[in-house]
Amino acid sequence: MPRDYSTDAIVLGSHKLGDADRVVTLFTAARGKVPTVVKGVRKIKSRFGGRLEPFTQLQVQLHEGRNLHTLTGADTVKTHAVIRDDPAALRAALGFIEMLGRATPDFEKLPRSYNLLVNYLLEMDAAALSVRSARAETGKSGQSENELRGNTFGNAAGRDLSASESRFVIITLGAELKLLLLAGFLPHLADCAICGSSGSLPRFSAEIGGALCENCGGESFRVQAETLVAMRGLLETPLAEAGSSDIDERTAREVWRCVREICRYHLGTDLKIEPW
Ligand SMILES: [Zn+2]
Repeated sequence: MPRDYSTDAIVLGSHKLGDADRVVTLFTAARGKVPTVVKGVRKIKSRFGGRLEPFTQLQVQLHEGRNLHTLTGADTVKTHAVIRDDPAALRAALGFIEMLGRATPDFEKLPRSYNLLVNYLLEMDAAALSVRSARAETGKSGQSENELRGNTFGNAAGRDLSASESRFVIITLGAELKLLLLAGFLPHLADCAICGSSGSLPRFSAEIGGALCENCGGESFRVQAETLVAMRGLLETPLAEAGSSDIDERTAREVWRCVREICRYHLGTDLKIEPW
């Protein structure tokens, strides 16, 4: 393979390297996740500074090194600034990026995961844009955002999520479940992971392999039937339609817990970012 190459890429995050440089984690179409040195990025007149925010889609030129590649050129394809500008969208999207980063090895070409990431950011961008215009309308008419959108998490315990937060969380849970499928982490969701029964499945254990009947439950935690239905539904639904799924807040929180338990079991570490 050539040592200099061009590819589409999405910025996942970055950290400092010494006084002047940064290491930016790119998820690239050509080589998967690539830790990338950006030299002089902290100087005021850096060529790249503004383009290295999380979620930005770039066309990059990279030079291959042993452990790190070096950024030699970057053109912005899409900034996705609207996601960063909405705190609820930002939280949800950072959670997905964290999971993708942890579940993906460096330098392994993963075109389906790359396409999932690109589609996910487009859907979140569209949702954040529609929330922004709904808010502008609300300002004019005095209606609440929930009245306008009509799709909201109900009166579950804890803080109710607004309609916009619920949409961001559900799109994100849809993307996370699809990522679990691509990573080979997806557990049993329609039958008991031990005995194969497809009757009532009131328990869940990532360690044992997913949904469980009461007899096989053991140390697992309880889940509502709606949670497994929601997980199967989100897996089968294109991301473009996930945001309008009818999933209440309690169910969304249980789906989120199941997804995080699966990640903890497979990755041996807790993901830190919560969408609420
Ligand atoms: Zn069983």
